[in-house]
Amino acid sequence: AVKRVPLLAGNWKMNLDHLQAIAFVQKLAWTLKDADHDVADAEVAVFPPFTDLRSVQTLVAADKLPIAYGAQDLSAQDSGAFTGEISGSFLAQLDCTYVIIGHSERRTLHAEDDAQVKAKTAAAVKHGLVPVICVGETAEDLAEQGPSAVPVAQLTTALEGLDSSADIVVAYEPVWAIGSGQAATPDQAEQVAAALREVIRSVLGEDAAARTRILYGGSVKSSNIAGFMREPNVDGALIGGASLDVAEFSSIVRFQK
Ligand code: PEP
Repeated sequence: AVKRVPLLAGNWKMNLDHLQAIAFVQKLAWTLKDADHDVADAEVAVFPPFTDLRSVQTLVAADKLPIAYGAQDLSAQDSGAFTGEISGSFLAQLDCTYVIIGHSERRTLHAEDDAQVKAKTAAAVKHGLVPVICVGETAEDLAEQGPSAVPVAQLTTALEGLDSSADIVVAYEPVWAIGSGQAATPDQAEQVAAALREVIRSVLGEDAAARTRILYGGSVKSSNIAGFMREPNVDGALIGGASLDVAEFSSIVRFQK
């Protein structure tokens, strides 16, 4: 079986300016270096605001820090008259590995639909970025359609037309669990993650299904991470609130199964 390296990813949202980002990444790197803790088996990533990316790049490159990073969104376009937008090529030039696409806050507050998520996913792959495709149902969807119908439909559209060799990450984030303090249970996360892996299998094939990491997100903290990481189809977490505290984020990263 393919071994999937767990990915623990912090979504900073609109928090930490570029000076705070420098202090944060330095502290995080210091904490991760702690010899008592082994993080060799997991990958750590942060998703700062756009304006922090150059600072983070400089720090990570200067000290070869074991921290990957990416942006929280990108434009579906390459360049041109799109005021306020950021091209995937700009992110690639800043050595971003990842880019979050279709976060529920983008879908809700900026009316991003599945077609835009699909176009942005294609743009990310085109520019050599790994899209972290976010899907998830609202409380209403859950009551009306059950847990997997909406995330499955969202992912099916997002993956349409992608090459089977595309390197992607999927984040299952039930909207009702984001920032609510009420995480899904590991069982719930596993059930939807397994359904999402089936989507990957049917659209992109067996190899893609075996290698693609599926994250759980929604009120993850150091006290509940281990339960999620024990599930066979959950390969990591996307962490919002708890990623803004260095001590808390590093204990999540050093989860013990
Ligand atoms: C998120 O917004 O991606 C998220 C998972 O937030 P939180 O961890 O704060 O619920």
